[in-house]
Amino acid sequence: MSDLTSDTVAPVAPAGNGISSSQGYLTVVVGPKNNHFTANKALIISRSTFFKTAASKRWTDGRPKHIILADDNPEQFRDYLQVLQDNALDPQQHWTFVQTGLIYILADKLGDLRTSNICVDFIIKDLEVDDAVPGDSFINFLYEHTIPGSKLRKLCIDYYIHEANIVGMDRELERLPARFWHDIVVESHELRKNHGLGYVDDIFRDRVVEQDDCTYHQHDETHPACEGV
Ligand SMILES: [Zn+2]
Repeated sequence: MSDLTSDTVAPVAPAGNGISSSQGYLTVVVGPKNNHFTANKALIISRSTFFKTAASKRWTDGRPKHIILADDNPEQFRDYLQVLQDNALDPQQHWTFVQTGLIYILADKLGDLRTSNICVDFIIKDLEVDDAVPGDSFINFLYEHTIPGSKLRKLCIDYYIHEANIVGMDRELERLPARFWHDIVVESHELRKNHGLGYVDDIFRDRVVEQDDCTYHQHDETHPACEGV
């Protein structure tokens, strides 16, 4: 990713501070150095429940207030805005699993499940098209930054159970978090319980990329299930 300045979000909206919502933009101040971003108001509040709520509350004394994300990383927020605008991760850019995971986590935190689902689909495509393997750095990252039940954790658990080729991965496997192995054992037990040993051949070839579209997505009232599922 390139170096970050507040002007790098120019494609999302004209640069500038304190733009009022009547002009159709929200100003968002991100991180310890107060990087300013401008975002398309209609777009961001239609997707993010956090921004929808924040935008409705910010006229406290009759003047538009900036929305502040003091604890977030400006670079990740810039990436989030770009995915929000494009409805996709830039295919010209190389995205590591961790970079994609950071956008996923930020989008999830902002209540923008559509963007987090875009990140999930990008990772699934990486597994399928580029034969990439989510290794120990990504899985350790996930277990540090997501909660039990995370769809992205589930995707990795399923991938390791059903299709990962772990030949030559001894060093990486040693570095995987204990909680991940725990989840693999629990999921394997569930599969055996639900399907019986006679079906081992079938159930252990249940590939991630062949699951229904919404298997690893999150949906709610604001973000209904994908069409055609
Ligand atoms: Zn879906």
